[in-house]
Amino acid sequence: MRLYVEAPLTEGARVAPPTPQAHYLLHVMRRKAGDRVQLFNGRDGEWRAQVADVSKRSCVLTCEARTAPQKQVPDLWLVFAPIKKTPADYVVQKATELGVSRLQPVFTRRTIVTRVNGERMLANAIEAAEQSGRVSVPEIREPRDLEKLLRDWPTERFILFCDEAGDAPPIADALAAAPKGPWAILTGPEGGFDPAERGVIRALACVTPVSLGERILRADTAALAALAIWQAVKGDWR
Ligand code: SAH
Repeated sequence: MRLYVEAPLTEGARVAPPTPQAHYLLHVMRRKAGDRVQLFNGRDGEWRAQVADVSKRSCVLTCEARTAPQKQVPDLWLVFAPIKKTPADYVVQKATELGVSRLQPVFTRRTIVTRVNGERMLANAIEAAEQSGRVSVPEIREPRDLEKLLRDWPTERFILFCDEAGDAPPIADALAAAPKGPWAILTGPEGGFDPAERGVIRALACVTPVSLGERILRADTAALAALAIWQAVKGDWR
């Protein structure tokens, strides 16, 4: 079992998991004193730790040895218009498994959702990171308006714009021809992008508009399909 913790991990370090995590470890996963777990914190690699000092509500995890070095996922952001509750959880979990480095919710003109639950997103990302063997948790950013986000956009970062309008080149061809470097994938809400927004996005020099085929995908499907294809062509699936 793998756990994400915030504390520094070094040989002999004693990590006291917060109460909910201790509860999960002791009473849900039924770990006992002497059992081993894997720990990571996004900075120090992965460590084998032993469960110790068990009481009803708490325990200590003692770091024994590093089992994997710290490793970064490729520098890939997912900028997505948030969608209704369940699909957003799903997108966060699956995007984490697929190896995204940052999740940036964005409000577009047709976005229906007006608030996103950052804590819930983070909890989903942590759980998916624990299960998938990642040694990092993707960074979860506060939602921003599309216009502002694009105004402050770091121009060296390419944007893979998932454009359902149909006249963009196929994603795999466009990516194969595109430069290396940091990327972000941009997907719209249930209602798609507004034509004016689309014009603004497509006018940016760092944008590569792409098609995901002739069928209209749901926002969550589009985001995950684009992530998978990016990893296969430009990322660490090679
Ligand atoms: N406006 C569409 C639905 C939008 S789908 C309609 O109702 O007809 C939600 C988002 O998924 C889109 O904004 C786009 O970013 C992405 N998407 C869905 N299907 C796509 C496709 N075939 N090609 C590229 N992007 C797609």
